[in-house]
Amino acid sequence: MSIDLHCHSTVSDGALTPAEVVLRAHANGCTLLALTDHDHTGGVAAARLQAAQSGITLINGVEISVSWRGRTIHIVGLNIALEDEVLQTLLQRLRSGRLLRLQAIADKLAKKGISGAYEGTLALATNIDMVTRTHIADFLVNTGHVSKKADAFRKYLGDGKSCSVRHQWAELADVVAAIRHAGGIAVIAHPMRYELSATARRNLFSDFKACGGAAIEVHSGHSSLNDRLNYALLAQQFGFLASCGSDFHRDGDFGGGLIGSCPPLPPICQPVWSHFT
Ligand code: AMP
Ligand code: MN
Ligand code: MN
Ligand code: MN
Repeated sequence: MSIDLHCHSTVSDGALTPAEVVLRAHANGCTLLALTDHDHTGGVAAARLQAAQSGITLINGVEISVSWRGRTIHIVGLNIALEDEVLQTLLQRLRSGRLLRLQAIADKLAKKGISGAYEGTLALATNIDMVTRTHIADFLVNTGHVSKKADAFRKYLGDGKSCSVRHQWAELADVVAAIRHAGGIAVIAHPMRYELSATARRNLFSDFKACGGAAIEVHSGHSSLNDRLNYALLAQQFGFLASCGSDFHRDGDFGGGLIGSCPPLPPICQPVWSHFT
């Protein structure tokens, strides 16, 4: 059984359409897949149609942006009811904030002599209300201001870099509550990527647990065996279920692994999918 519970399509900042995501995952042997676009569930219906044709089990998913104690954290919602009003209202609010952030980043880029970033970036997004820094990075590459996307983050867009803006995403408690309201399971995405001290990580896990969070990703992208063992132990200590996801966006991209295929979880883990399969 090959499982992938975290990946992206063109609905957010991935390169493949939702149907292509499913086809690729299937080609890599995947039998259980969740499409988890950033702050948007608009791709799930098309993914579901393709999943039925390919014979893959598809779990409804989303990856939600959270501001927690001054940091950006991502929470995946799995097995959510798509039509849930509380969840959709929260996602809608997050997306409208993205346009305001794009304008603020474009203003900073303009001060550096890079004009047209607002319109130029919007033209690259499938959904105009789902503009990510990946799209802004694409704009900077396409217009020749940087030679590759990683440089766009290193020079301009990365946290604390010259054209970054501090953005207020949703509250952790509101996000977990919305996922639970939609009947889903809340999962901390890629906990190994946040560069947290051991104390900050414990605080995040306790806050998450206290507001009803149930799982963490023990594997994400190209995690090492060491990471997986560490996070499996942490999951056990906190009583969290374990999830795994490629975080695939496109071939050869930052952080993402092979779509549809994750390494096995350490045996001490309680897999999150035992709750929906
Ligand atoms: P946003 O949610 O708009 O702030 O965009 C964040 C997205 O940018 C993440 O989901 C990643 O896909 C991508 N990203 C973040 N940091 C980098 C980086 N250093 N290089 C390439 N992509 C990145
Ligand atoms: Mn992304
Ligand atoms: Mn993420
Ligand atoms: Mn992701």
